Amino acid sequence: MMECIFCKIVNRDIREPLVYEGQHVVAFRDINPQAPTHVLIVPRQHIASVADLRPEHAPIVEEMLTAANTIAQEEGVAQSGYRLVLNRGPAAGQSVDHLHMHLLAGRKLAWPPG
Ligand code: AMP
Repeated sequence: MMECIFCKIVNRDIREPLVYEGQHVVAFRDINPQAPTHVLIVPRQHIASVADLRPEHAPIVEEMLTAANTIAQEEGVAQSGYRLVLNRGPAAGQSVDHLHMHLLAGRKLAWPPG
């Protein structure tokens, strides 16, 4: 999966600064931020999307959520609030086929999303 941009970041072939490094998950800032805080939480393992998750991936999913909590606290947005987004497929705008969760914060986030 060496052509996958997020695999290259995970493997440090692209040395994007990491805001979180865990056993199963890393996180880094989105290159095209949609909010003052916009972090991508990414499993080390190449999993194409949320639709490809299997029961054995439970520790990865757990760490994605606990990492979000940790990052939100470190970024100072835990109290004001934040949004976690998983895009799946073209209708939702998934543009990178490596599972990732967006953490968005730092401005009023409209609902429903666009
Ligand atoms: P999605 O549209 O849900 O697939 O989100 C993919 C996200 O990855 C987009 O918000 C992009 O801006 C972001 N992105 C793509 N390439 C990079 C990169 N090299 N470093 C950081 N973020 C990236």
